[in-house]
Amino acid sequence: MSIKTSNLGYPRIGEQREWKRSLESFWKGSITEDELHTQMKEIRLNHLKKQMELGIDYIPINDFTYYDHVLDIATMFGIVPNRFQYSGGVVSLATYFAMARGGEAQACEMTKWFDTNYHYIVPELHDAKPTLVENKPLKAFKEAKEELNIIGKPVILGPFTFLSLSKGYKKSEFSNLLSQLIPLYSQVLSELKEAGAEVVQIDEPTFVTDLSADDWNLIKQVYTQLANATDINLIIQTYFESVDQYLELISLPVKGIGLDFVYGKEKNLNSLLTYGFPQEKILGVGIIDGRNIWKSDLNKASKLLERINEIVPYSRQLIQPSSSLLHVPVTLKYEEALDPLVKEALAYCDEKLKELTLLKEIILDRSQFEDKLKEHQTGIYELSESAWRSEKKLNELKTNRITHFSKRAELQQKKWKLPLLPTTTIGSFPQSTEVRQTRLKWRKGELSNENYEQHIREYMKKWIKIQEDLELDVFVHGEFERNDMVEFFGEKLSGFAFSKNGWVQSYGSRCVKPPIIFGNVEFTEPMTVKEVVYAQSLTDKPVKGMLTGPVTILNWSFARNDISNKEISFQIAEALLKEVQALEEANITMIQVDEPALREGLPLKKEKQADYLQWSIEAFRRCTSDIDDLTQIHTHMCYSEFNEIIDAIDAMDADVISIETSRSHGEMIEAFEKTTYTKGIGLGVYDIHSPRIPSVSEMSSIIERALKVLPAERFWVNPDCGLKTRSEEETIAALKKMVDAAKKARENI
Ligand code: GLN
Ligand code: ZN
Repeated sequence: MSIKTSNLGYPRIGEQREWKRSLESFWKGSITEDELHTQMKEIRLNHLKKQMELGIDYIPINDFTYYDHVLDIATMFGIVPNRFQYSGGVVSLATYFAMARGGEAQACEMTKWFDTNYHYIVPELHDAKPTLVENKPLKAFKEAKEELNIIGKPVILGPFTFLSLSKGYKKSEFSNLLSQLIPLYSQVLSELKEAGAEVVQIDEPTFVTDLSADDWNLIKQVYTQLANATDINLIIQTYFESVDQYLELISLPVKGIGLDFVYGKEKNLNSLLTYGFPQEKILGVGIIDGRNIWKSDLNKASKLLERINEIVPYSRQLIQPSSSLLHVPVTLKYEEALDPLVKEALAYCDEKLKELTLLKEIILDRSQFEDKLKEHQTGIYELSESAWRSEKKLNELKTNRITHFSKRAELQQKKWKLPLLPTTTIGSFPQSTEVRQTRLKWRKGELSNENYEQHIREYMKKWIKIQEDLELDVFVHGEFERNDMVEFFGEKLSGFAFSKNGWVQSYGSRCVKPPIIFGNVEFTEPMTVKEVVYAQSLTDKPVKGMLTGPVTILNWSFARNDISNKEISFQIAEALLKEVQALEEANITMIQVDEPALREGLPLKKEKQADYLQWSIEAFRRCTSDIDDLTQIHTHMCYSEFNEIIDAIDAMDADVISIETSRSHGEMIEAFEKTTYTKGIGLGVYDIHSPRIPSVSEMSSIIERALKVLPAERFWVNPDCGLKTRSEEETIAALKKMVDAAKKARENI
């Protein structure tokens, strides 16, 4: 009997983010291009070596990148927008990075990779004449073979998904463009075959989304053409969800099909059991969670494999993670400081690969590996039996504000007497080097608590004065005490742990280190009251309380997987309600509860979206309903694509929402023309992501345009998002113009 292990993708960032450091040194000019290549090669080969040592049978290659794997496909096909003045041939590193990061020409758009927190560079096809200018997978294949004697498994983003994720063409051109790409893919594959590649993993994650019968016809054509052009063994890899058109998928003329048995388990398993699986094909069984950091219960996993074995024998199974491991941190090796109770229940990338090997050993000879298995499972049981995870009853909370918005608005306006088009900001002010260094010193113990708090008070004082001078209408305290909007709350709530090295790539060289929700979340003490109360004591203008909402805290953390996300978000909401009430008690009665990550948790499949929206909106309401009518709830979301969820946003029943619009204000305002949204709304009038100072007239035109569809008494004027990444001068200059624009607009009403 045999069974093989396979990996779908290894994180690029290196054990201690060496990759990030190399890239950033190169961008800064402190290393040369040659040095960069050398360092990248070392990191890349290291990853291969490690996977070999961990006993993985099919080691992925070409999953490594200098920035993003979607950009890699675009540039390997010479798909470079005209503004980068590309004239054919291998795309230079300078152009590659210019597309990713901008420079003289505007960078390509960056957007979320499915429902993950990874962002890819969106290929632009309008100027393109796709040609194969560099066979990157071939290069990676040869390197692994020559340097390490590894016959790697090239990973390539499939043509259908690549095109679906691109922009710059009309829907009607899709099939034509697809047929232009096929010969290029065929050539890549033929050359790989010639060089000795045995198996190629073609990633087609769009196959888990809602596709039409026409789409599937096209897909069939694509893979038939590829099969005719080359006889290399292709494995079509899907992930993040189940595949609805299972029968179409398994009948494609390829060697193997990879399915996700973690995030799409129920439906994929059901399809497999109901319809069977072709005799001659290989099944990639995605069984180790590629997106979370918890150990796998290998007893459960081996039972599942046994069941699958009845349909597809072990000899035709590849056991693998549910998706690329790009979405998890690299190794637990450096987590000495984590509580062993938590650490022993965790598995980062390398530990997940070990799990695959152990799983294989158990399948092959369970009795021999019984002890090893027991040892593995102990950590899982210990955490689950601990008090941290004891059954927790949720309290009955109000999920509705009794008084209708229109009445509340009237009462609130009487209280605050705000001018028309009130001006405000989203919460954070620049986290200058000084602010960050002060915090670092305090964290290292070089600064006493008292001393630190004194510094924070000084920053607040300075910025209250600036807001007074700018004549803003509603103030914020500036969030100087916060490193990160989720970590800050996690550190004060119970049930959270913080890793030292749990970094995950978010985009380019930017990595995030999500908190770990390992146990029941509970309120322990007020988290934000002291600072806001101090800021309020310095001014007569209202200062907004500033909290991160339950769904954002959940979505930007690694959450426990023994209870549902809904339940976790309700636990967080209950804790946040106590904070809201503590603020109210301290007389802070304009309270912003940010939910920038609400949209990104939206499930890929339409059939699951309603349920998600239902509980996530309820979570928000659970922490914002049991309050006084006079308390004004604000919320903020920083993305503009919310047309599809506008009703849900309305249902949040926040008194005021601020959203990002400046980069797409046309579309956004159109969206409002079509809805019945009647509550307070602040459309971001300038883009905070750019250092550019916007002109008064630019902002005026956004305001004027918006006032055509939104009532003036509901309209707020604010930037797109928090200002923590901007410099102080930029911030003051831009806000000054924003206030001028608001004043001008008031005169015209
Ligand atoms: N209040 C937060 C800030 O201003 C909001 C950040 C966000 O939306 N991502 O920084
Ligand atoms: Zn934002």
